Amino acid sequence: MTWNPTTGCNKISAGCKYCYAEVMTRRLEAMGIEKYKDGFKVRTHEDALNVPYLWKKPKVVFVNSMSDLFHPDVPFEFIEKVFKVMNDTPQHTYQVLTKRADRLYELHHPLNWTKNIWMGVSVENEKVLDRIDFLRETNAMVKFLSCEPLIGPLRNMNLQNINWIIVGGESGRKARPMKEQWVWDIQQQCAAADVAFFFKQWGGVNKKKTGRELGGRTYDEMPVAKEVAAPMY
Ligand code: SF4
Repeated sequence: MTWNPTTGCNKISAGCKYCYAEVMTRRLEAMGIEKYKDGFKVRTHEDALNVPYLWKKPKVVFVNSMSDLFHPDVPFEFIEKVFKVMNDTPQHTYQVLTKRADRLYELHHPLNWTKNIWMGVSVENEKVLDRIDFLRETNAMVKFLSCEPLIGPLRNMNLQNINWIIVGGESGRKARPMKEQWVWDIQQQCAAADVAFFFKQWGGVNKKKTGRELGGRTYDEMPVAKEVAAPMY
């Protein structure tokens, strides 16, 4: 399940190169969908705030698949409103992912970090390792790294206070390759630091064909598996 109280973004690092949100936004804009009439400009959507209250069953929710909640153009007051909705609906598990880890750190203190909010940062290569340090210092109760698309090695990460790592290769016609050694290296760091490891996919031109096995098995570990429904990954 995805929930998009904000839409729009702009590229900030190498992981953004083939941004899925931008491609989808252009399509929805061309189709005349009202929510995307301003294209990929950052917009907040007050009317989307009531949506989680209407879901009858508990859901695992990816927040802002079409944007970045901590983008500088999203006012703090709106981020507070999004958190209020998440705080009011503890039956749902929310996964919030950002590449603006510095702004996350700057704003995290007054936000109410209920345990149903899992906060993640994207870490696609070693140039953005500082995002982990910002995340580590926040009050989020579940902290995760999304290493997807993994486009370089991530050696010797400091995984203190990190609960979960998702790894995935880029998919699509121009997908940048992911080396098997990079994935094993992260898996071993997770095992050594007691961090849950989830291997999502190899990716590539035909991601169905390349699948999601690593060394003949799948890795589907979750940080607090008993408290969540099936993962969306
Ligand atoms: S931060 Fe995310 S949504 Fe924004 S441009 Fe990069 S990949 Fe796209």
